[in-house]
Amino acid sequence: IWGRACAELEQSVGPNNYNHWIKPLRLTSIEDGAARLASPTRFISDWVNRHFAKEIVSVLNRAGAEVERLRFEIGAPAARLREDAPAEAAPADDAPAAAPARTERAAPATTRAPRAELGAPLDPRYTFSNFVVGKPNELAHAAARRVGEGGPVGFNPLFLYGGVGLGKTHLMHAIAHDFQARHPVAQVLYLSAEQFMYRFVQALRESTIMDFKGMFRNVNMLMVDDVQFIAGKDSTQEEFFHTFNALVDQGKQIVISADRAPAEIKGLEERIKSRLSCGLIVDLHPTTYELRLGILQSKTDSFRAQQPDVEIGAGVLEFLAHRISTNVRVLEGALQRLFAHASLLRREITLELAQECLADILRTNDRKVSIDDIQRKVAEHYNIRLADLIGPKRARNVARPRQIAMYLAKQMTSRSLPEIGRRFGGRDHTTIMHGVRKIDELMVEDTSLAEDVAVLKRLLEA
Ligand code: ADP
Ligand code: MG
Repeated sequence: IWGRACAELEQSVGPNNYNHWIKPLRLTSIEDGAARLASPTRFISDWVNRHFAKEIVSVLNRAGAEVERLRFEIGAPAARLREDAPAEAAPADDAPAAAPARTERAAPATTRAPRAELGAPLDPRYTFSNFVVGKPNELAHAAARRVGEGGPVGFNPLFLYGGVGLGKTHLMHAIAHDFQARHPVAQVLYLSAEQFMYRFVQALRESTIMDFKGMFRNVNMLMVDDVQFIAGKDSTQEEFFHTFNALVDQGKQIVISADRAPAEIKGLEERIKSRLSCGLIVDLHPTTYELRLGILQSKTDSFRAQQPDVEIGAGVLEFLAHRISTNVRVLEGALQRLFAHASLLRREITLELAQECLADILRTNDRKVSIDDIQRKVAEHYNIRLADLIGPKRARNVARPRQIAMYLAKQMTSRSLPEIGRRFGGRDHTTIMHGVRKIDELMVEDTSLAEDVAVLKRLLEA
């Protein structure tokens, strides 16, 4: 039966796939509707299971076997070898292969998500239609759409970066969904850099590195999320570099995300940085009030579709968009919590309810003041132009407010002195330190200055 099935499989999956993946397998038994296949490595069986299980089951059925699913045994060929040629001893470092065959967990041929194990599963909610576009993300969105359409996009890789919760993972999943829908037989592989490392280490441990390479080089699109994770991990970086190059050479599209631009990722090899920079680099900017409101409106619509009895009062979404940080995940979580409370308490979602049940989120968010906010408020308070506050003028009437703004930036944000320096027209961190100390000292004597600073702080915290 297996011989006949193989001949047919060679036709249906093509000689390359057949030689690489199917030929190493042996059919050892058929019991209770399960065909037992012996595979020399788990990588091969995983791959076959994900890509060819359905095909094998139907070919076996056509060949006259009653089969519903496949079961894989790892290392069984070694057992066969022992029978066929007992003299052929397994090499010492290959001991696991000679061990009694382990039966892998049953794998129903039809219910497995494709590539679920090599890659990470895709969230069905992360689609383009659920992604709200605004100024801060429109470029990233446009680039992602282009890649999702497939075809020559003119840049490889697409490198998306931005802070936590700004939609990088959402966009990557959306690309994968879109591309897969347009190219049903294409192999789209999405995984985090952490999973990439884990797979790689596992392949090293199990001496299946060739299979590992084979699988990664066989995909049509590779997406690696949060690539900053492999910084400082030398052998993983090395493998990533080669995988990357092999795919780019074959014209396969790559999409990468990170929390910052390639050049800013410490511990990432220079050659990888330069490779990553060859394509299109786009960043997702922190959300604006308008975008947050748009996202809240869209999420509210989908929550309301499921919980039509929940009413949402006027001004609540605006309040949330104002008071909750730029991280969309936090925004979403807040709205979800409001809906849950309102539904349980059978209350309308009002401003009071929002304040009550989101107290923790709103409070932590209160402390988040941006350097921009500080500069604007200080300039306004002293009635000077923002450009002068940041610019080089040394006149006392701008220099002192500038130092106050530096002081507040140091006190109220978590930014480092060099970062603050950059935001004050590229000043050196020692200048910032000097400004901060100066205000600290002056406030001891000068009560009206201290009062000014306190007022500004209260304004910024409001
Ligand atoms: P990141 O990967 O950048 O940390 P995610 O893609 O995980 O962020 O996004 C966090 C959450 O916010 C997800 O639930 C995502 O669906 C949602 N989200 C982010 N940006 C948007 C957007 N523009 N429109 C709709 N939902 C968004
Ligand atoms: Mg993410």
